[in-house]
Amino acid sequence: MNYALVTGGSRGIGRAICIQLARQGFNIIINYSSNKQAAEEAKSAVEAEGQQAELIPFNVADREASRKAMEDWFAQNPDKKVEVLVNNAGIRKDNLMIWMKDEEWDDVLDISLGGFYNVTKSVLPEMVKAKKGKIVNVVSLSGLKGLPGQTNYSAAKAAVIGATKALAQEVARRNISVNAVAPGFIKTEMTEDIDEKEFKGIIPMRRFGSAEEVASVVGFLASDASSYITGETISINGGLY
Ligand code: NAP
Repeated sequence: MNYALVTGGSRGIGRAICIQLARQGFNIIINYSSNKQAAEEAKSAVEAEGQQAELIPFNVADREASRKAMEDWFAQNPDKKVEVLVNNAGIRKDNLMIWMKDEEWDDVLDISLGGFYNVTKSVLPEMVKAKKGKIVNVVSLSGLKGLPGQTNYSAAKAAVIGATKALAQEVARRNISVNAVAPGFIKTEMTEDIDEKEFKGIIPMRRFGSAEEVASVVGFLASDASSYITGETISINGGLY
């Protein structure tokens, strides 16, 4: 049975990705950090699409916890394969560099960049063995352009874009692709504090995007329709570069 693992799959963009990949026929492993109720809702939404869903709570920033969770899963499910990994878990802790606290820097780097490393490292050997895999990293416009007030977040996302390009070249011969999507402003709980009315004027399409508009591109990158694309970062930003 073929599974897709989505980190931070319980809410927002991650949840929309879980539903999109379920529609494409994958069973889904939903990782989340602490909000069990939201994770249960995401699980029900996947099951409503006729696919199986499993919840695996762990903090992607915690290397040992990430490794153990995935090792246990592979040991308990020897007949199942993780064909798709979506590294989506991420947080924002915005501040100007001059005011930034050490933990604001560390937490954002540890979850976005450390999480990419910890989870990919746990899943990649199985993909290499199977000679099949699709890895999609959710990065950001901030990682391409750099946004003031987000040196931590921009650094983390830019680093994952670099890692996407490097890893893509390492594993292409193993039939594994590694790509990224870079959303602009997307309506989720992460952007609740950002006033769409105030910011939409700078976006050529004059609106924020939806989680589903990101998920459909992730679905494309997880499908055979993207079979000759690797190392690429696709922007989903309504024209805001
Ligand atoms: P969100 O609504 O805040 O959801 C974040 C998800 O990540 C939740 O499922 C959360 O689980 C999980 N999560 C957070 N920290 C985690 C950790 N340490 N370990 C495991 N899971 C963790 O965020 P979103 O807007 O959907 O963002 C998803 C991704 O898109 C992030 O990487 C973000 O940087 C990126 N992005 C978002 C936007 C945007 O405008 N929204 C733009 C560009 C890029 P819990 O519920 O358990 O906390």
